[in-house]
Amino acid sequence: MPIHPASTSRRYGIDRREFLRYLATVSAIPTLALRAEDKVSRNPTFKSNPFTLGVASGDPVSDGVVLWTRLVPEPFNNEVFSPTPIETRWEVAEDEGFQSVVQSGTALATPQLGYSVHVEVEGLKPHRWYFYRFHAGKESSPVGRTRTTPEPESMPERLRFAFTSCQHYETGYFNGYPHMQQEDLDLVVHLGDYIYEYAGIDNRVRKHHGGEIVDLNDYRNRYTQYRLDQDLQETHRLFPWLVTWDDHEFDNNCAGIVSEEDGVSPEEFLLRRLNAYQAYYEFMPLRRSSFPQGPDMKLYRSCTYGRLANFQILDTRQYRTDQPNGDHQKPLVGKVFDPQTTMLGREQENWLMSNLLQSTSTWNVLAQQVMMAPLNRGTPEEALYSMDQWPGYEYSRRKLLNFMHTRNIPNPIVLTGDIHTNWVNDLQVEGQSSKSPVVGTEFVGTSMNSGGNGGNKIAEFERAVGQNDFVHWHNTNRGYVSCEVTPETWTSNFRITPVVNTHGSPVETAASFVVEQGQPGAKKA
Ligand code: FE
Ligand code: CA
Repeated sequence: MPIHPASTSRRYGIDRREFLRYLATVSAIPTLALRAEDKVSRNPTFKSNPFTLGVASGDPVSDGVVLWTRLVPEPFNNEVFSPTPIETRWEVAEDEGFQSVVQSGTALATPQLGYSVHVEVEGLKPHRWYFYRFHAGKESSPVGRTRTTPEPESMPERLRFAFTSCQHYETGYFNGYPHMQQEDLDLVVHLGDYIYEYAGIDNRVRKHHGGEIVDLNDYRNRYTQYRLDQDLQETHRLFPWLVTWDDHEFDNNCAGIVSEEDGVSPEEFLLRRLNAYQAYYEFMPLRRSSFPQGPDMKLYRSCTYGRLANFQILDTRQYRTDQPNGDHQKPLVGKVFDPQTTMLGREQENWLMSNLLQSTSTWNVLAQQVMMAPLNRGTPEEALYSMDQWPGYEYSRRKLLNFMHTRNIPNPIVLTGDIHTNWVNDLQVEGQSSKSPVVGTEFVGTSMNSGGNGGNKIAEFERAVGQNDFVHWHNTNRGYVSCEVTPETWTSNFRITPVVNTHGSPVETAASFVVEQGQPGAKKA
């Protein structure tokens, strides 16, 4: 899949020669189709077992799933250890002991993609657990477990899944994951900030290797460091995941092709994005439809869970126009209502609306990054809103909610990450007016561990709870959200881990909220 520098430079309105010069410095992603005469290493030997980063699965459908691994005999050594692609064998079985293998095949691990392996398995049965493993040479991977979704036309009795976001390696341990592993889940959803791009800082709980990540090896090493965390790796092994990114997989508060730092040219910024996106693809269980095209990567997609739930997995970072009113907190005036501004980009917005119109599901879920409810964080006299979140793109926010309202989209549920605190919000077309209809419900997950232990009261947020009627609940602990979905009710259980600065924490359910089918808005359980 070639990079198209001409169309890329045209699309972003940047100097074509400059951009070609930048691209020339990058080792371009090769075509995945090998020619017959290309050599393949069928019986490689390794210094040690290359499955150090474990296995993962994701993007399940009713007859298949993506299986993932990466051959990394020596973590953090990104040198080419085999110039020829390595043949990796994979097997899928109905049982953990592999007595009943139902599918098997081979896939190539190429040096250009860091020896990552993505297999799109087809022909499986719906709504079932499966077990899978990889072999390369004489070495074998751990056994992973995964699950297909129910048949599209069926109505399953229930879906259980957990969602989380924001795992900053330096600010503590991922203490929610061992508890997530104990739950009976069909799926895990990650809403972004899977890594943080910052340089290592001394005197924290743990330390990032190296400086701020910029080139491909930096990004690869950062993902390697995170994926070596056994709590994270084990959770990938046990459940299929749906992943999307936020800003820190690339650069803080990035918007389209604009860096938050001044003095970064669009060419430098796009080159860094190309590295960030390639590494993200390499490390995540994603389909070929998400294969990076130079500095672009289509991550938005959907996952249907029978007629029970339909997940629209969104990308609110890549296609948004620059923050219309700049960053930080501002009143809701002026450019936030400009029809030229967009949070999702026209293509994704059209795709989303058409999917929502065609959806036959009871629960229509948006798995996305930034808070949608227009939270006044100022005072009643001087209302202030975060310009990095949906209210900074108020035109897009109202357009989407108004669309859901006028087209009677059943039971919209918005899942949000990014801000390291829990919120339960009713979503109204106009947030401030008590007369504005309630269209859907937003559940904001806290961070897995970003920001350290948490649990303290934050004056600004306490004030915000008081002055925003649509807020049902707010909390600053760390953890994840476990959801149980049936045709009648949606229940979100807010699991919190009181400590993250030491390894291991008890878990508590701080609150549970229920949405009843046909009645948008949350009620305390
Ligand atoms: Fe974050
Ligand atoms: Ca973020």
